[in-house]
Amino acid sequence: MSISENIKHITAQIPDSVTLVAVSKTKPNSLLLEAYEAGQRDFGENYVQELVDKHEQLPKDIRWHFIGHLQSNKVKYIAPFVYLIHGVDSFSLLKEINKQAQKNNRVIDCLLQLYIAQEDTKFGLDFTEATELLNSAELKELKSISVKGFMAMASNTDNQTQIQKEFASLKKFSQNYPELHILSFGMSGDYQLAIQEGSTMIRVGSSIFGERNYNN
Ligand SMILES: *Cc1c(COP(=O)(O)O)cnc(C)c1O
Repeated sequence: MSISENIKHITAQIPDSVTLVAVSKTKPNSLLLEAYEAGQRDFGENYVQELVDKHEQLPKDIRWHFIGHLQSNKVKYIAPFVYLIHGVDSFSLLKEINKQAQKNNRVIDCLLQLYIAQEDTKFGLDFTEATELLNSAELKELKSISVKGFMAMASNTDNQTQIQKEFASLKKFSQNYPELHILSFGMSGDYQLAIQEGSTMIRVGSSIFGERNYNN
């Protein structure tokens, strides 16, 4: 199937209230444009330089999502234009985003990355850490960022029950913060399950653009 058919196929299966972020990392501009011409406007990237280049080269009404692990020293490159930063996992990173947003006279929307998987990963806050961060007085002083919700990745497993439990734990935790309404979870392999469990934003790469080849 073509990229536009893939997008139609996916959007036909998801409710209007769910945002499809097309994850275009490693893919050339020509393929992103194909998606753009099919009506896609939300794109996700996880390398800063690649995001900066694509933003420069592609239509200006694209909403660029940063979905990777963001290093503090690179925030300045994406701060002028990034639409939503998904993977925020520390207060110090939030502070740097706030500082760079202020320099650009804007408020940058962020999601806190939560750690829900039953496997070792370096990234993400556990529920206790996220609660502490959200309750901290310092957070309220950051006027140039706005925390809009949560992002998470399930375990890399075929066990659907396991994935379903992980998504459900995120949804349950998020109910403590009804004003944080964006829940970014679900990828090519599990977005249907994710929506069933309350996701409002899915990040889909290979089901739109095909498998990634990291060697080219
Ligand atoms: C690559 C990536 C995706 C998309 O993965 P697919 O399985 O290709 O859909 C989603 N989220 C994050 C954080 C990613 O890095």
